[in-house]
This record gives sequence, structure tokens and C-alpha cells, in this order.
Amino acid sequence: MMSNGTDSLSADCIIWSTGAVATPVLSRRGLPVDEQGFLLTSSKLQCTADPMVSAVGDSGSISGIPFAKAGVHAVRQSPVLWHNLRSILVGGPMTSITPQHDFLKILNTGDGRELMLYKSLAIHARWCWTIKT
Ligand SMILES: Cc1cc2nc3c(=O)[nH]c(=O)nc-3n(C[C@H](O)[C@H](O)[C@H](O)COP(=O)(O)OP(=O)(O)OC[C@H]3O[C@@H](n4cnc5c(N)ncnc54)[C@H](O)[C@@H]3O)c2cc1C
Repeated sequence: MMSNGTDSLSADCIIWSTGAVATPVLSRRGLPVDEQGFLLTSSKLQCTADPMVSAVGDSGSISGIPFAKAGVHAVRQSPVLWHNLRSILVGGPMTSITPQHDFLKILNTGDGRELMLYKSLAIHARWCWTIKT
């Protein structure tokens, strides 16, 4: 049973899914942010208004390329950030990243099984967790 204060609804399973929220610190810098308040960057992960500022993972949004705030992006952006910071410091070409459109999602459903989603594939089984771990 769930309630919003006045109404109650019966449910066998509740999935509480919330989006990431940008820390107010990001918009206080006076740098461009997207509608959710994340720092806008180029595909080189440099702030669109100041190339000496970079943002990756949940704090950044690549301008014109919407993608989910997920660990997979933070992990894949980190070597690009490292490469580009080195290029700024010692010279050399910068590199860009294009976030992947889709990625494997595995959700623990609390009954010993996991819900695995990838593209149009959906599997709900105990063995799915072995892929995650
Ligand atoms: C409940 C939950 C489940 C999730 N499950 C998944 C999943 O299964 N798969 C997936 O891909 N993604 C998942 N995510 C999303 C994933 O965790 C994030 O996208 C990822 O951690 C972003 O990495 P990040 O390095 O950008 O930020 P974070 O991992 O949030 O790291 C930011 C760090 O900065 C520190 N920090 C913040 N402010 C300051 C400050 N002022 N000074 C110093 N340090 C500071 C924080 O303490 C934190 O350690 C999940 C997120 C949540 C909340």
C-alpha cells in the first residue's frame, strides 16, 4: 500500500525512479548550464564558455547530445578528461567523446532476481546479477 498523504494505492511492486539533480554550486559559477543546471561542455568535455574548466560525469552535459546521468558515462569520460587535461598542460591534440545511445541496465528487484534491460531485450532472472558483478 502506498500513500501520498490522502490517497492509497495497492501495489505488488514499487519502483522509485528519480533523476539526478545538479548541485547549485554549478550554476553559481556563472558558466553556461543546461535546463537541469549541469555545466554545458563540448564533446572535449570543456566548458562551452571557458576551455580551462572541464566537467564530466553527473556534473557535465555535452551540448546538443542528451544522455542519462549514469556511471557508464562518468567512467567512459574519465580517460578522455585525463587525455585532454594532459594536452592542455603539455600540448598535443585534444580528443572528443560521443556518449553511447544505450547501455546495459540491471535493476535488483528485491526478490533474488534482477531486471536486465538492453536495447529491446528485457530479462528478469536470478543469473542477471552475475553479469553486473
Ligand atoms: C541510488 C543510485 C543508484 C545508481 N545506480 C547506477 C547503476 O546501477 N548504474 C549506473 O551506471 N549508474 C548508476 N547510478 C548513477 C551513478 O552513480 C552516477 O552517474 C555516477 O556515480 C556519477 O559519477 P560522478 O563521478 O560524476 O559523480 P559521483 O560519483 O557522485 O562523485 C562525485 C563526488 O564528489 C564529491 N563531492 C561533492 N561535492 C563536493 C565538494 N564540494 N567538495 C569535494 N567533493 C565533493 C561527492 O562526495 C562524490 O564522492 C546510480 C545513482 C544512484 C544515486
